[in-house]
Amino acid sequence: MPYGVAPSVEVRPGSSCLYCGLVLTGAAGVVDHKEAGVPSLPSPGDFTVCIGCGHVMAFDERLNLRELSDGEARSMDADDRIMLLKAAQKRLERNQKKLLRKDNP
Ligand SMILES: [Zn+2]
Repeated sequence: MPYGVAPSVEVRPGSSCLYCGLVLTGAAGVVDHKEAGVPSLPSPGDFTVCIGCGHVMAFDERLNLRELSDGEARSMDADDRIMLLKAAQKRLERNQKKLLRKDNP
């Protein structure tokens, strides 16, 4: 299924990655390509991926970030949107390392 990205929406103020601590101010939903361009607010139970480190978390009932349950962590492997985001994040890391090597031979 082709995906698109919804416009970024603000997340709950004070949200930060539970792994790296990066303050997260927004989230952009990965949606069916037909819905790309339409703001998509997170709902309780939705997964989110830290833009800084790739850590996968979920929104709780109050839209705070929480760690995944064991069942959610297992189901994440079946969500190709998460797998695509994690692959993109790894590619970004590799490219950043290449750039750093070129800047500091
Ligand atoms: Zn992080």
